[in-house]
Amino acid sequence: MSEKSGKRYALVIDSRKCINCKACVVACKAENGVPVGKFRDWINEDRRGTYPHLMATFDPEQCHHCENPSCVRVCPTGASWQREDGIVLVNAPDCIGCRYCMIACPYNARTFREDLGVVDKCTLCAHRVDRGQVPACVETCPSKVRVFGDLNDAEGEMARLLNTRRYLVKKPETGNGPQLYYLL
Ligand code: SF4
Ligand code: SF4
Repeated sequence: MSEKSGKRYALVIDSRKCINCKACVVACKAENGVPVGKFRDWINEDRRGTYPHLMATFDPEQCHHCENPSCVRVCPTGASWQREDGIVLVNAPDCIGCRYCMIACPYNARTFREDLGVVDKCTLCAHRVDRGQVPACVETCPSKVRVFGDLNDAEGEMARLLNTRRYLVKKPETGNGPQLYYLL
């Protein structure tokens, strides 16, 4: 994928459909070999009220593959980088484990792999995307909470959702330009 192909990958997330089964978390771990105790995606849980008036909301999250990623800006070695299609990655051999990127990320989307001495994060399953597949979390979710697509595809499902539904991005004030779009 490249700018020549004009693609800009992103996710639309409909948190209201999430049943907190965590199949997406398990799928990510299995697909990407994420070890016990480490996560590239997770579910924010909010529980309110007292019995019998209880309410819970579940909010899937991962790297927002920001348009203007602060993690990339602060990385002193260039290990953190962004593909022309928007996917933000870490090139592990160049990572010196300084963790500046972890501090710079407003979404706490990065984790440190003590076993490898490098920072780890969601790759949007770039290896799958390059084969024409969707990310493992997208494919696995029984509720179809996430829609993966190209923001520049005017005919796609993502464009249809963003043109017809209200949505928000988290922490837009950071200037990072997050690319996870949460339907309201
Ligand atoms: Fe929610 Fe889907 Fe993840 Fe299950 S797989 S926790 S429904 S986002
Ligand atoms: Fe970087 Fe964090 Fe944005 Fe992901 S969410 S691109 S790790 S700043």
